[in-house]
Order: sequence, then C-alpha cells, then structure tokens
Amino acid sequence: MKESPQSKKLDEMLRSSKLAAGGFMGHDSRSVYEIIDNDLAIISESGYTKEQVAARMHEITNKAIELLGNWEEIDEKLLARVDEAKGSLVCPWPHSGRYAKRVTYVKSIETDETIQWSDLNIHFIEEHGFFEGKGAYFRIEPKELIKIIF
Ligand SMILES: [Zn+2]
Repeated sequence: MKESPQSKKLDEMLRSSKLAAGGFMGHDSRSVYEIIDNDLAIISESGYTKEQVAARMHEITNKAIELLGNWEEIDEKLLARVDEAKGSLVCPWPHSGRYAKRVTYVKSIETDETIQWSDLNIHFIEEHGFFEGKGAYFRIEPKELIKIIF
C-alpha cells in the first residue's frame, strides 16, 4: 500500500537513528502505513478520534507544565509531571515545525498504571495517526493510552 518513492523515503527516515536514538519504528517490520491503519482502527473501535486523543494529551501536558516537574494531581483521575531537555526535535514527515524535547509522565491514581509521551508523540498522533513501531522507545499502545487518559 502506498509504496511511492516518498513513502519509501519516509519509512527509511523513521527507521534511521538520524532524528531519534533507535529511530521511531523499533523492531516493527510493518510499513508505516500499516502501523497507522492498525492503530487508528483500535482508536476508532474505542469510540475516539485521534484528534480527541491528542487534545486530551495536550491538556494533560499543559497542566503538568504548570506543576514545575513535580508529581501532582492534574485531575481526580491522574497524576502527571513533565521533564524538559534542551533542544528540539523535527518531524520526519516533510513539513516544518520543531517539537520541544519534553516528556510527560502520567499515572492513574486508581490503578497505578503509567504511560509517557513526548511532545513529538502528540504531534505524530494528531497529524499522522502514528503511535510509532513496536519496540520503539516512545511507542504508545493505543489501548493503554485510552484506558489511562479517559
Ligand atoms: Zn509531522
């Protein structure tokens, strides 16, 4: 599916360590579009859109930024904190925009389950429906994400 020269180039870029240590694909042998299709199917089966998921992630990250790195309740359901590093990341899809090297850590008060994401993860989900490949450091399992944040 969609094996155009551009998609081949994108696939190579996502697998390389040029933009992120270990790349964004992990050990996943599927094409980037197969990964996206599978993950978006899970999101829609759960009754959400990628935009709703990304909006909730933005909301949590923005609240956590105000907490200055401390674990605090961001609402009745979740604790969160952010870590910021210097510098920024670019998106491998060809378009402009840089993303802060910020990681948001989230914990469910009820179940103790945790999940983490970078600002780039939020962008990937919102714009590209991409949760990264299996085995990638910042791979997010859509089911787990939805279970924790909603
Ligand atoms: Zn992008």
